Amino acid sequence: MKKRLLITYSVIIIFSLLLTIILSMVITRNENFAQTETKIIELTKIYANNYSVSSNFTEKIDENIRVSVIDATGKVIADSEGIDLESFENHKNREEIVAAENEVPKSVTRYSSTLKKDMMYYALKVNNGDSFVFVRVALPVEGINSFVSEALPAMLIILGVMLFCAVFLGIFLGNKILEPVAMVKASLQGIANGTFVRVLPTSWDSEINTMLSDINDIGVKLQHSLEASQNEKEKLDYIINNVSDGIVVFNNFAEIVLINQNALNIFCLNPKVVGKNVSVLCAEKKIVEALDMCLTNKESQFFEIDINQLTYLCNVRHTDNELAILVLSDITATRNNEKMRSEFFANASHELKTPLTSIKGFNDLVALKSKDASIKKYSSHIDKETARMLTVINDMLNLSKLESGVETNRLEIDLRAVADDVANSLRPLANEKDILLTVCGEGSVFADREHMYELIKNLVENGIRYNNKGGAVEISIVATSKGTTLSVKDNGIGIDVEHHSRIFERFYRVDKSRSRNTGGTGLGLSIVKHICEHYKAQLLIKSKLGVGTEISVVF
Ligand code: ADP
Repeated sequence: MKKRLLITYSVIIIFSLLLTIILSMVITRNENFAQTETKIIELTKIYANNYSVSSNFTEKIDENIRVSVIDATGKVIADSEGIDLESFENHKNREEIVAAENEVPKSVTRYSSTLKKDMMYYALKVNNGDSFVFVRVALPVEGINSFVSEALPAMLIILGVMLFCAVFLGIFLGNKILEPVAMVKASLQGIANGTFVRVLPTSWDSEINTMLSDINDIGVKLQHSLEASQNEKEKLDYIINNVSDGIVVFNNFAEIVLINQNALNIFCLNPKVVGKNVSVLCAEKKIVEALDMCLTNKESQFFEIDINQLTYLCNVRHTDNELAILVLSDITATRNNEKMRSEFFANASHELKTPLTSIKGFNDLVALKSKDASIKKYSSHIDKETARMLTVINDMLNLSKLESGVETNRLEIDLRAVADDVANSLRPLANEKDILLTVCGEGSVFADREHMYELIKNLVENGIRYNNKGGAVEISIVATSKGTTLSVKDNGIGIDVEHHSRIFERFYRVDKSRSRNTGGTGLGLSIVKHICEHYKAQLLIKSKLGVGTEISVVF
């Protein structure tokens, strides 16, 4: 900056001095010309008026004045320089002679090859009896050369002095101007480093001092807000790094913007991954795909992944500020508990089934052998209860099987055929309540036939059991290009909307006594839900108390 100031000063001074020199030269030259012209006109008039044939111009009149006489033919007939007259060439066409002949005399300046310098010429026509002559005066013109020789050394001295002053002034002013700038620079660096020091307003200029004190105020505010945001950042970092979930934030180019300690631990990475592409988590292809989907469609994605023998529930969400957040929650314990519960459920059901079957067998034997009416009555109660218990246990075993997630043999199943089978087997139950059971539509799905049978049977059984005498149950199958929909619709007692979200839970019943009385186990819809999850089918319910229920499965 200082260097630049010096250079600028010097250039300005050199340029101004050069301009001054050139201007002075031009002005001096013009002035000289004007003076010489006045002088030459006066002199020529004097010499012309005093001209006579006897005028002797063969001798030097003055160092600088040259007088010549030229006759009408252009021949030089007298010259004060004493040069041999024969050596002159004809002057007839000289500009000043032509002008004088035309009675419009004018001064003409040109270089004289005879005298080797710039000369001004002026001629007047003088009548000489029958003829005429031209009296011509020539004066040297003090042009630029004289100025250069006289004024230039002085100018150069002035230039040197000015340059010296410019350098001195440049250094002085540079220091004065840059002093507050340097202080501001140091102060701003202090803000960035957290070591802000106020700038001292010691400048000689009051405006600069006001500016410095304004900068001080801004600096203090900036320092405070930087400290506040630093504190906030530290708090946020602490929270983010101490939550139990792994958090990774991506920008629109799928580059990692932020990753917390837990996520680093999960993926066995170090903090240097910030700024890198999602592919650094390449071990998890599912994450890359989900992030891609999320960034493209701006839709949240949920999925489970296993990393290093731990199970994580992943959620990738798109935010309004063009970021995507991946949250990994460790659900290993939950999944283990579910597995243990499911295993216990399956084992207990299995263990109960055998003794119950034998109780039922022995009870049948007692009823057969005994002639006592009361024993026969108790035996029939036992039979009813054991049958119910066996139904519950069978449902529990079915549910366990579905929960175990064992892949079954999927074939193209004609849903209409399965629905007809279910309707035929349940028609006696429907007839008991005078219920009209109908099947309509066609469609097929890729599934295990057992599962489809179980699904339709549970829905139709409910439609019959929770129906009124003389009601109707309709199984309908609709196949479209998007998939196949199976619906079971009844005009029975209906379900209040507050129970809609809960009826698919195990053993949840809206009306416990009615469910038991009609032989319900509380597991039917739970089985339906598990089958739907197994085939990734959508389960929809439409039901209104006192109007009826329609449960649809969209494959
Ligand atoms: P349950 O064996 O008791 O029928 P489900 O799981 O099949 O068990 O059904 C859960 C509860 O949902 C039932 O107890 C009943 O209250 C209600 N429910 C199921 N289907 C219907 C229906 N079609 N109409 C009215 N209520 C129903």
